Amino acid sequence: PDLSVHDFLFGDLPDDAGHRVAVIAAGAERGTTYTELVEQIDGIAGALAARGVVPGDVVALHSPNSPAFVALFHGILRAGATVTTVNSLYTSAEIGRQLADAGATLAITVGALSPAMLGHLPDERVMVVDGADGHESLADWLAEGRSAPSVTIDPATHLAVLPYSSGTTGLAKGVMLTHRNLVANVAQTIGIITLGPQDRVAAVLPFFHIYGMTVLLNLSLFARAQLVTFPRFDLAQFLGAVAAQRCTYLFIAPPIALALARHPLVAEHDLSSVHTILSGAAPLDGTLADAVADRIGCRVVQGYGMTEMSPVSHVVPADRTDIPRGSVGLLVPNMACRLVDPASGGDIEPPTDGMSAPGELWCQGPNVMTGYLGDDEATRETLDADGFLHTGDIATVDAGGAFFIVDRLKELIKYHGYQVPPAELEALLLAHPDVQDAAVIGVPDDEGEEVPKAFVVRSSEHLEADALMAWVAERVAPHKKVRRVEFIDSVPKSASGKILRKDLRAR
Ligand code: ATP
Ligand code: MG
Repeated sequence: PDLSVHDFLFGDLPDDAGHRVAVIAAGAERGTTYTELVEQIDGIAGALAARGVVPGDVVALHSPNSPAFVALFHGILRAGATVTTVNSLYTSAEIGRQLADAGATLAITVGALSPAMLGHLPDERVMVVDGADGHESLADWLAEGRSAPSVTIDPATHLAVLPYSSGTTGLAKGVMLTHRNLVANVAQTIGIITLGPQDRVAAVLPFFHIYGMTVLLNLSLFARAQLVTFPRFDLAQFLGAVAAQRCTYLFIAPPIALALARHPLVAEHDLSSVHTILSGAAPLDGTLADAVADRIGCRVVQGYGMTEMSPVSHVVPADRTDIPRGSVGLLVPNMACRLVDPASGGDIEPPTDGMSAPGELWCQGPNVMTGYLGDDEATRETLDADGFLHTGDIATVDAGGAFFIVDRLKELIKYHGYQVPPAELEALLLAHPDVQDAAVIGVPDDEGEEVPKAFVVRSSEHLEADALMAWVAERVAPHKKVRRVEFIDSVPKSASGKILRKDLRAR
């Protein structure tokens, strides 16, 4: 339906769901009901309008996950403004760049994060949710008791959000997503991820990233489920609240899967309320997924997406137990996709049995961005004349339409004409009993040839580089051998759960 995000999610409220809890902080006694949430959204939109915010303005939201985040995010949309969500881990300089790039004229932050935000905009243009440093607070705004202004939104063209990509491969890019883009992705996934009012969703992935924004925040609210918010990932707090608040659905990224599979604390909690875990944002190896499923006693499935697709294009449907492990699932409804041979530019045909050859995944649909903010060249390189987004990811597909992500095209290691996906070696290394975590990049050897190098966090001091390389060599084709090993204390990862191979390369 062509509606604004607000009308799509909340248009029929108050309904039977009004009294239900929409969002509650982990460990809190009381949450915000759907009726209260819609009232707060209305009051926030009114307060923004009273401060001169008009449709088309950009408002920055800089906050960890919390009930207030949910109300503020939707309050900004309700006022017709565009939200640019700011990574909680950003430094002051990174925030300054985003505010300037996005053209934000007002910012909302929280006391604990405010030092990085202050100074970029005049003080009176910065609201601090908890009112630190004498700034206006959310309570001040709500106490004014205002109502939302009446605004006209054309869902097809009106920018709802300007999230920034994770910055895994370079500088984070501002992605222009319309109301139609966000509405479409909820509509495309609700029948597949099948959340309902009986679900309690652990919202530990950051709302500022597109995965948290669409799948946690918008999909859960549309389903009238209950969001349980975590300001950050702390394993003990996470397990405690999932158990105590009887969460049913966990949306995670692979670093959390690693903890759930291995950490001794997991065994101390009753996680029997959890029926499904969905992992996305980075490759999750099938063995690791099975280990999590066995330990928690639930389904573990994967989805795939990117900021540029609002984000989901592929996910394993809730009712399909026949999708092979390691798959990111089927293409969501109302999208088209192609696998394109990067060498020839020709289409790779779907196989009649077995697995297709690998190709770059191209996707088209109503959830695909309108472009990168202020970068027409990058937009032209990524989005073609037919509306296909070139994802930059290499994938394969089986005869049943189940997709598998091999790795990013740009990350493939080129060894003597062979292409070696680092993700495959990382998954293998993780299967070694003395490996706690691992990341692989290509580095030049003495002949200038690119060779795989592994950065390994070991759980036993006795593990040595030569022995580990020999162990890998027994399990892979010769061209995929790991030829360098360096032991490190931790693998650098982004807030959205991706290995920062560029940081390893810079070492
Ligand atoms: P940047 O574009 O700034 O370098 P990024 O691509 O990591 O950063 P996001 O939009 O957050 O920014 O991430 C999208 C990417 O995440 C995809 O292109 C893909 O490489 C990876 N990804 C997402 N889900 C999966 C998955 N299930 N398996 C493997 N990779 C995934
Ligand atoms: Mg990207």
